[in-house]
Amino acid sequence: MGNRKRIFQSLQTAMLLLLISLTGGSGLMTIYGADTEEELLIPEKKEEGILVPSSDQQDQDNTHNIWKESGLAGECHDAVPQAEQNRTEGWIAWDESWEYASYSAIHTGMAYLYRAPASRGIVVAVNAGHGTAGGTEAQTLCHPDQSPKVTGGSTGEGAIYAMAVSNGTTLLDGTPESQVTLSLARLLKDRLLQEGFDVLMIRNSDDVQLDNIARTVLANQVADCHLSLHYDSTETDKGFFFISVPNVESYLGMEPVASHYQQHMALGNALLSGAISQGIMLYGDGTLPIDLTQTSYSTIPSVDVEVGDRASDYSPQTQGRIADAIVTGVKQYFGVG
Ligand SMILES: [Zn+2]
Repeated sequence: MGNRKRIFQSLQTAMLLLLISLTGGSGLMTIYGADTEEELLIPEKKEEGILVPSSDQQDQDNTHNIWKESGLAGECHDAVPQAEQNRTEGWIAWDESWEYASYSAIHTGMAYLYRAPASRGIVVAVNAGHGTAGGTEAQTLCHPDQSPKVTGGSTGEGAIYAMAVSNGTTLLDGTPESQVTLSLARLLKDRLLQEGFDVLMIRNSDDVQLDNIARTVLANQVADCHLSLHYDSTETDKGFFFISVPNVESYLGMEPVASHYQQHMALGNALLSGAISQGIMLYGDGTLPIDLTQTSYSTIPSVDVEVGDRASDYSPQTQGRIADAIVTGVKQYFGVG
């Protein structure tokens, strides 16, 4: 795809979003298969436009007021890095004493912490989606409080348990999703290190024996934000989006979601701004609400990013642009130049 076409698509996206915001949304039928090999149909989305947390955080009595329509720009805010600063570069093994550690079924693998030469002291967890042999044979709780899932996804609405890690989809040329998420993760890691971010590589090879809960628990402990990378299971090259937090009262009231969903949304919106700045096509408004295991256990800003689908180009050039977009979004989120 040429630059001119990309710019045109980007303009089209901007015009579409403007139109949606002016008309109040047109209720697009959405086909998706985020984080799964299944494809599902979901009903009309109730809200269009980018959702960001309202500034009125005190109004906890009325959950509906927590969300508001907003423009595309991700919000800059006072994100204070809290990751441990005294860890040295190297492999990080599992620790049963970590919060939510007991909910994980697969955690014999290790993540690798890279320190940037000119470190800003901010750790970004880069989680290449899938790539855990045996992950489909184990089950874990969707929510730490054992409540049922509030939306569909790779596991249906109402489920209490989900696969510990799904196999992911397969690109149209037969390449497993886990392979293209790893190549993107490596490009992203290199760019983040160049920009002074430390990187926690959750999966640093074809396979890591860490399930979705273990990956999240590790990120919670070591990193300041968590980005999982995925390609969706549709075949339309539909564009870039992130999995937003479902606007469901019971879900927004459940810990640790209640204390962190505004961070997840702000991080996701910053990534969308980064994508737009790189001329990357968005899918719809760039968000799709799904109740994910990752979100349900995250105590740091945490987003599942769907950077393309089965039909998308994943050449080093295209993945490099996606990595640049994500770095731009991360820098915006943490308010660093
Ligand atoms: Zn996936």
